[in-house]
Amino acid sequence: MLLKKGSKGSSVSELQQLLNEHGAQPPLKIDGDFGPATDRAVRAYQQERGIKVDGLAGDQTFGALRGGGPRKPKPQAQNQSGNRTTASPGNSPTEVSVPMRNLDGLNADFRAKVVNILKELAGKGWKPVVAEGLRTRAQQAEKVRLGYSKTMNSAHLLGLGADIVDRRYAWGGPAANTSFQFWNDLGVAARAQGLIWGGDWKKFKDVAHVEAPRR
Ligand SMILES: [Zn+2]
Repeated sequence: MLLKKGSKGSSVSELQQLLNEHGAQPPLKIDGDFGPATDRAVRAYQQERGIKVDGLAGDQTFGALRGGGPRKPKPQAQNQSGNRTTASPGNSPTEVSVPMRNLDGLNADFRAKVVNILKELAGKGWKPVVAEGLRTRAQQAEKVRLGYSKTMNSAHLLGLGADIVDRRYAWGGPAANTSFQFWNDLGVAARAQGLIWGGDWKKFKDVAHVEAPRR
């Protein structure tokens, strides 16, 4: 199978769904129509995965999309607790366990608040995970180039920003809808920690994004 700009049908829908699950930003409309937005998302994904960037979704791109987790695995070592932590009883009515992925390099105070948000959401039955935390200037420049971000002043560069998703959906399926309950719960939890939630932004709603206020 080889999909490219102009392709249509259910395999294109599947491709769009997979790209969303892998964090396509902005999330793609699942319409089975391989247009410019899908082309950009394919190229961004190929770039991220080190696949030849040609906008053609063939065996290699599909294989990577079907095979991997929500994001390219980070090279750095995982923490000793096997990458998971358990909330201390008393923090939350039920003891919850949340994945500690992508927290490396975050500002310590911000990181603690992000962990509190993860626990709060897990306590509500969600499967929250940080899809992306610290970003290098090169990664940010690439996102700006591809039109996924508008600023080189991102909180992600300072370790003061994180994107939190439910790992079952990422930005796909029901989470493609910005009114999805998970996003609402994330906003409530972020505000309770004194953080800024991207879903409150007027111009560029970014429902997965939370960041520390900067003075
Ligand atoms: Zn973000």
